[in-house]
Amino acid sequence: MKREKTEVLIVGLGPVGATLAVYLGRMGVSVIAIERDTGVYPLPRAAHLDHETMRLLHLAGGAEAVGCASQPLSAYEFRNAAGELLMGFKPGQRLAPTGWPYSSMFHQPTLEHALRARLAATEGVEARLGHALKGYERNADGIVATVEGPEGTVEIAARFIVGCDGGNSVVRRIAGIGLDDLGFDEPWLVIDTTLKNGRERLSTVGLQHCDPARPVTSMPMAPGRHRWEFMLLPGETPESVMSDEKIAGFLAPYAEAAELEIERRAVYRFHALVAEKWRDGPVILAGDAAHQMPPFMGQGLCSGVRDAANISWKLAAVLRGRAGDALLDSYQPEREPHVRMITDMAVMMGKVVCTRDPEEARARDEGMLAQPEAQRQNEMMTLEGLKSGTMPGGGGIFPDPGHGADRGAGQGHSRLDDAAGCAAILVVAEACEASRAFAAAGGFVCGVEALPDAGGHLAGLMGGAPAVLVRPDRYVFGTGETGALVAAWEAYLASGKAAAPAAAA
Ligand SMILES: Cc1cc2nc3c(=O)[nH]c(=O)nc-3n(C[C@H](O)[C@H](O)[C@H](O)COP(=O)(O)OP(=O)(O)OC[C@H]3O[C@@H](n4cnc5c(N)ncnc54)[C@H](O)[C@@H]3O)c2cc1C
Repeated sequence: MKREKTEVLIVGLGPVGATLAVYLGRMGVSVIAIERDTGVYPLPRAAHLDHETMRLLHLAGGAEAVGCASQPLSAYEFRNAAGELLMGFKPGQRLAPTGWPYSSMFHQPTLEHALRARLAATEGVEARLGHALKGYERNADGIVATVEGPEGTVEIAARFIVGCDGGNSVVRRIAGIGLDDLGFDEPWLVIDTTLKNGRERLSTVGLQHCDPARPVTSMPMAPGRHRWEFMLLPGETPESVMSDEKIAGFLAPYAEAAELEIERRAVYRFHALVAEKWRDGPVILAGDAAHQMPPFMGQGLCSGVRDAANISWKLAAVLRGRAGDALLDSYQPEREPHVRMITDMAVMMGKVVCTRDPEEARARDEGMLAQPEAQRQNEMMTLEGLKSGTMPGGGGIFPDPGHGADRGAGQGHSRLDDAAGCAAILVVAEACEASRAFAAAGGFVCGVEALPDAGGHLAGLMGGAPAVLVRPDRYVFGTGETGALVAAWEAYLASGKAAAPAAAA
């Protein structure tokens, strides 16, 4: 059998595998990425991206296409059967400090096509469509995988295999890694529609209709699209709710049938599952292969992209001899608490929505409506940062302060992200020996005076400190004296442990 060799074998080219492949390619790692399907999955699953994810997707070449075909949410509301507001969230209407909208309602296939196009243009990365992983074995050098494609079966030897192969991950199953079930398992009918007659939207509000008779979600997606989700009731099966007649009945209270074209009808079970191990020697899991959450926070894909951003530079650093293998062990401890926190919130929201018992629903309404309406309205949640892997005080999401001269014509400044690429960033008040050593080791160094910082977010973060060091995944590693920061960074690369646990962002 033909045997080939690569540094990293990625299994699955969904949004997470494709993002990871581009990152690794940009960092000079050789990658073979296999995908059992021959084309991009043509229908959307995810509908919402947050600003941090847009920024990370920008680094993988996916955000511009999304930005051209998305719209912001004006509000996300949970209302009871009578239409009263139980709780609501309002995303900021200006751009987030990352330079991206707080919420983007988008079209997933548009993102995936953009990522695939970037992948095709990324040196060192080979994408093989129509190739399925059949199995793999470990050896002293990593793994040897058996891959079946149109031309037959080949063996691929790799230092690392990353399972980005979705909820039913074969990579996870072969490694014998179990799933921790966080106790949510509800079947929902998802109906995606396109709007007729050039109409762009039915509403800009994402709505959870918490009616115990039938919980329903109504969600604007990319312009020209709208999604509804209907919880299945006891005794209903997927087959029993899929007919045209049934679906027309479901949609009747919400929209005129003549205004819509049904693009997809599918029953999903919304789960809350977390893999017990995210790394086992040369085997690594990311995205839905590592965790699945109910969609009430719109964070499943966002979390997978954060996984790719976390593990990519660690793999590159280890493969280039810049970091010890222990750095890879920091992946799960850094990412898992974040995913669990979001999953717990999504489950909590899911429980509010999925209450079917009328008495429980009445008590829920009474409790929530007891608060004055103003207190039921919240700012859109900003997620916590990292709780480990940074110096004390670090861990927040680094703002993009812009870079270089004004581009004129109302275009503002370039992004610092574009200048720095996928490297770690050191912003300094003054160059010194430590900053030069950081640059020589592949880091991106820039003087604070080169950063326009129009929003003042960088100044607020630095608070007069001589330097800030930013991880390649754009979390702040720390602020302080340049030499001490660079030394702490080197120690972290070697050991996978940062000086002390950082406070939440
Ligand atoms: C109804 C619904 C709504 C959602 N809404 C949101 C939202 O608003 N925001 C959000 O962030 N997330 C949302 N999500 C979650 C989001 O869709 C997923 O988290 C995301 O698509 C997972 O991406 P992934 O790349 O990890 O996996 P997938 O997209 O599942 O990709 C896995 C890939 O691996 C391939 N593969 C599998 N096995 C093999 C094999 N043996 N060999 C080769 N290839 C293989 C598959 O063909 C597939 O292409 C939603 C999900 C659902 C179901």
